[in-house]
Amino acid sequence: MDQATDAVLRDLEGRHTELVERCAEQRRWWVEQWPEGHEFLTCLLAQDVQEAVRELDPTWPLCPEHHDHPLRVEPDLGTDPFWVCEKSGLPIAPIGSLH
Ligand SMILES: [Zn+2]
Repeated sequence: MDQATDAVLRDLEGRHTELVERCAEQRRWWVEQWPEGHEFLTCLLAQDVQEAVRELDPTWPLCPEHHDHPLRVEPDLGTDPFWVCEKSGLPIAPIGSLH
């Protein structure tokens, strides 16, 4: 869980820490119910946080290629999640390595 939280905070460059902590708290409960889900935590937390920051930061994380749309997490449920440009379909960076 800490690894997932750290990865998402790195990509947010330390912004919205309380919001990340709230999302992480919900995922902690979730992974207690489904321990096998542990390997998907980074993937899911990144999606949770993106959803949660949308009102504050609608373009986070901004695509470094086009500068006019946010990246999306792919796959929806995977162990090796990437930020992907949905215009080009190309992976930009693994979650936690955006900067
Ligand atoms: Zn793009």
